[in-house]
Amino acid sequence: MDYLPVFLDLRGRRVLLVGGGAVAARKAELLQEAGALLRVVAPERCPELARMCQRPGTEYIAAAFQPTHLQGCVLAIAATDRGEVNLQVSAAGRAANVWVNAVDDPAASTCLMPAIVDRSPVIVAIGTGGATPTLARRLRAQIEAILPARLGELAREAGRRRSQVRAALPALPARQRFWEDFFDSALAQQLLTGRLDAAAADAGFAAQLDAALAPGPLAPAGAVWLIGAGPGDPDLLTLRAQQLLQQCDVVLYDRLVPAAVLARVRRDAERVFVGKEPGRHRTTQQRIHELLIERARRGQRVARLKGGDPMVFARGGEELTALTQAGIPVVVVPGVTAALGAASAAGIPLTHRGVAQSVCFVTAMGEAAAALDWRALAAPLHTVVFYMGAAQLPQIVARLLEQGAPAGRSVAIVEHATLPGQRVLAGTLDTIAATAAAAALGAPALLIVGEVAEFAGSRHKQE
Ligand code: SAH
Repeated sequence: MDYLPVFLDLRGRRVLLVGGGAVAARKAELLQEAGALLRVVAPERCPELARMCQRPGTEYIAAAFQPTHLQGCVLAIAATDRGEVNLQVSAAGRAANVWVNAVDDPAASTCLMPAIVDRSPVIVAIGTGGATPTLARRLRAQIEAILPARLGELAREAGRRRSQVRAALPALPARQRFWEDFFDSALAQQLLTGRLDAAAADAGFAAQLDAALAPGPLAPAGAVWLIGAGPGDPDLLTLRAQQLLQQCDVVLYDRLVPAAVLARVRRDAERVFVGKEPGRHRTTQQRIHELLIERARRGQRVARLKGGDPMVFARGGEELTALTQAGIPVVVVPGVTAALGAASAAGIPLTHRGVAQSVCFVTAMGEAAAALDWRALAAPLHTVVFYMGAAQLPQIVARLLEQGAPAGRSVAIVEHATLPGQRVLAGTLDTIAATAAAAALGAPALLIVGEVAEFAGSRHKQE
């Protein structure tokens, strides 16, 4: 090991910062966040650094660096753009036994600053011994993505309850198991979403402690996560969706969830298809509720994965109600709904100044179609996105024309949005049905009706 990573407690300790530019200001910010008392040495300083020097406990010396500036300091940072000054600080630091970091100059440093992922009190520090800061930054980005934003709050919550747990479970193995179970629990997941109040957190925690104290094997607490898979491209999953897909025991998924998204699910999680397969009956909604409840009661962490967003044309509300009534903890994770995925992929703004002031998501499937306010949908200056509309295309067009929409109103159809094989068809109300028929339009596809759909047309012509 070339370097020993340590975490320094700099609160109330004097730290020397040599340099007056933007790099020094960035370091000053970080050091002040860590509670250090700064001594800034620079003949001149940028306005940002000047502002930071106003903060309590900060000294500013308007001069070139002198070894005497190190007096009383536990650490020195050389952040000038002049190599010889950095070397002076480094030599003086070595002589005075003070750790020195020269920014971007490992040879002149006796300690290195890592790339940091800050979820205080959880902090991840990444170093490459100065060999490749770019790699360190890339690793940081990857770790940022997998660590939940509220991880620090979860850690603090656990910290607050340590003595309570130590008193209740004096034996170390029992305590370790309790904490393992806690971080796996639905309660921990809810704390990470930030939507649990203090009283509910107390009650949940007390229940877990009671369960750990009860004789016999621990009954694991199951939960259901209602997760939006986005429109198809796995990179459009949310960070939370990815985190939970890596933790679930079983995933129940629909037809719209592509293999590339399922590939992001934890390898040893069980996969259960609950969509409609050609030639076979769809799993009924009632049966899906039963499955979800049954699995959660077995103590499993169930990912209910739906295409797009789970609360948009996805019967998420019904599942949420059934689970809540059964007393199963639920977390809902939004997804990029197909309309948004399709609009971005086709380069269509859903609202546009002076062209569309509002946007409406509609399904014109089955009997519900008759109940829609077609006059409002035909009105100008807004965008209508039809889900599940491909098969109904001629009827949709006829109704819009009947209610006064001009034959020249733009329409775009986006098939397999964000997926390999995506197609964008552009036309107007009087041409789109023929265009779709000629192109042998398949599913899934959605219709975007409104003048904004012209963006797809112009794009289409360029290609
Ligand atoms: N909950 C989903 C919608 C489910 S309804 C969401 O929020 O997106 C199913 C309809 O969504 C399909 O008939 C189609 O109109 C639309 N759809 C879903 N994924 C799509 C995709 N990748 N491309 C185009 N349309 C899509």
